[in-house]
Amino acid sequence: MIVTHTIVEARAALRSAPRPLGFVPTMGALHDGHLSLVEAARTRCAGVAASVFVNPAQFGESEDYASYPRDEAADLERLEDAGVDVVFAPAATEMYAPDAATGVHVRGPLTETLEGASRPDHFDGMALVVTKLLEIVRPDVLFLGAKDAQQLAVVRRFVHDLDLEVEVVGVPTMREPDGLAMSSRNAYLTPQERTLAPGLYKALLAGRSAGGEPCATPQTVIATATSALASAAHTSGLAAFAIDYIAVVDAVSFAPQMVLGPHSLLVAAARLGSTRLIDNVSVAPSAYPTGDATQ
Ligand code: AMP
Repeated sequence: MIVTHTIVEARAALRSAPRPLGFVPTMGALHDGHLSLVEAARTRCAGVAASVFVNPAQFGESEDYASYPRDEAADLERLEDAGVDVVFAPAATEMYAPDAATGVHVRGPLTETLEGASRPDHFDGMALVVTKLLEIVRPDVLFLGAKDAQQLAVVRRFVHDLDLEVEVVGVPTMREPDGLAMSSRNAYLTPQERTLAPGLYKALLAGRSAGGEPCATPQTVIATATSALASAAHTSGLAAFAIDYIAVVDAVSFAPQMVLGPHSLLVAAARLGSTRLIDNVSVAPSAYPTGDATQ
């Protein structure tokens, strides 16, 4: 595995990488969810590149950029074991010159609602860094997690709008045995909060079951998930979830849905103490017969 820290080094290493080349961008603190993206890339592609970069541009001022978990040595070991060919792990100064003046902005509900409403500027920062990384790495296929469903939809939008020559593949959410979606931020949870945390996914599954009932609507799905999340706190006797949003949206446009359809996604964000968790499940009518498909 070749480890690069500068754009010049990365371009030189990637010039001779096997094609098709898959690319997995990450912010490090790697867990099995990230590695499932690498595995998907290895299955589809002859070469695999990954990046490890905690992108300051996508964190708000009051967010956790400074405290975000970082462990480059452990990350590199995991990426090497997973079969990555080239890693790009730049410093923030390598990616952002002090006089840089260019942004990438996706307009509309896709970036203004839900995560975009809760985290202003987040999607601008994400879109800028992903665009830059795609230009540096020049992969054939980009692998992103379905856990960050709105991020996936925003990336699909600007890749299409900017005619970027890359295929975007969404990889299903990897979960802990109790259902909690794996996330680098789970490391912030206290033991008590960790006990409560799977309640978010359980609430989404309750919402999905309600969606399988006759005459179900997005409203009944949301109401069921909301009350399940509230009762998760009661039954455990622990601190409660503070709900940021629970919504049923179209997985492509992120517009709220009035009726359940083939792209219906139940999305939620909630805080446990200082940790913000997000998750989603499909509530498309076609999701019900199998019972276990979460995406
Ligand atoms: P992050 O390091 O949080 O920026 O995540 C890097 C990539 O890994 C993103 O495409 C995420 O959607 C994806 N990812 C994070 N957690 C998971 C998970 N539990 N399962 C699958 N993919 C994930």
